[in-house]
Amino acid sequence: MILPKASRLTPEQLNEVTAIVTEFGCSIQPIIGAVRTIYAILGDERDELMINRLEGLDYIERIDRIQSPFKLMDRRSDLATHRIRVGKATLGEELVVIAGQCTIDPKNPNYFYETAAAVKEAGATSLRGGVWKPRTNPYTFQGDVKSLDILMEASRRTGLPVDAEVMDEDQVKLALDAGVHMLQVGARNALNYSLLRTIGKAVSQRLDRTVLLKRSLHMGPISEFVSAAEYIVAFGNPNVILCPRGTAPTLDGYRNHPDESITPLLKEKTWAPVIVDPSHSVGKASYVPACALAAVAYGADGLCIESHVSPSHGIGDDPKQAVTPEVLAGIIRQARQLWAMRRG
Ligand code: PEP
Ligand code: MN
Repeated sequence: MILPKASRLTPEQLNEVTAIVTEFGCSIQPIIGAVRTIYAILGDERDELMINRLEGLDYIERIDRIQSPFKLMDRRSDLATHRIRVGKATLGEELVVIAGQCTIDPKNPNYFYETAAAVKEAGATSLRGGVWKPRTNPYTFQGDVKSLDILMEASRRTGLPVDAEVMDEDQVKLALDAGVHMLQVGARNALNYSLLRTIGKAVSQRLDRTVLLKRSLHMGPISEFVSAAEYIVAFGNPNVILCPRGTAPTLDGYRNHPDESITPLLKEKTWAPVIVDPSHSVGKASYVPACALAAVAYGADGLCIESHVSPSHGIGDDPKQAVTPEVLAGIIRQARQLWAMRRG
């Protein structure tokens, strides 16, 4: 990783640096942070001669060589000072809450508009709404592109940024063109490296956009999760948030195995912010508040919670696991108190 003395390299300097690393079979990827741009060396950056030549350039402050499978996401990376914003909030400075329906019902848009207004009133930072849905059963509702307009209209009405899951290249393009602020990679796709690369490339052109990467049901070691984030960031946009959401179920009664205790382990390895999804972790509305508070106690920077004004009229996961806006308001109040206590 190359750190220039100034906040960024001039085009001529970048050409010179690129020419040097190319001789050694590497390439350069600029990563544009809030304060300065750093330049990742992609490829095998161990060659001493290459490093010496780069270090000899008078506009280079230093070359950091991090021996890590995820050198950009690593806690020791120079990106560690990067801060990710969600709407008006900055992760790490206040507890961020993403809330809204699992699934937007295109036949009943008013439910979504009412939910959007209610989650804003409850104190949410950002609105979520499923447009395209990964469904186990191929004969159930798979989502509808019409819901994208409903999502963006709710964003305009409330002023909240919005988050939606995308599962393929067309959806990525449609969502970004429509103005979706945060692309969600779902648990089923968190190990789809081709999709991760597609998203990385797409958001490298849109540095104001963010990616919420769910933990796959089948991920084991921490490094698997952080490396999936590295796939996205390696294209140049460092706005990636890790989202534990429960792994394959082991406890009778919970939909998945709640993994909110993973946060301290992630924080040891990576600088990435963590937003925990208690809704999919437990899969039942009445268990969501406890899981949400546990997540904050374990150090989460935020929560992603399914909420619906009338869960029984919802579709997708909403009838089972969406909390009402009243319950959401209680969770947000207590979670923010706990977050402040944790900060001391
Ligand atoms: C969702 O957020 O509605 C969803 C399908 O999540 P996950 O990918 O975590 O199952
Ligand atoms: Mn859901």
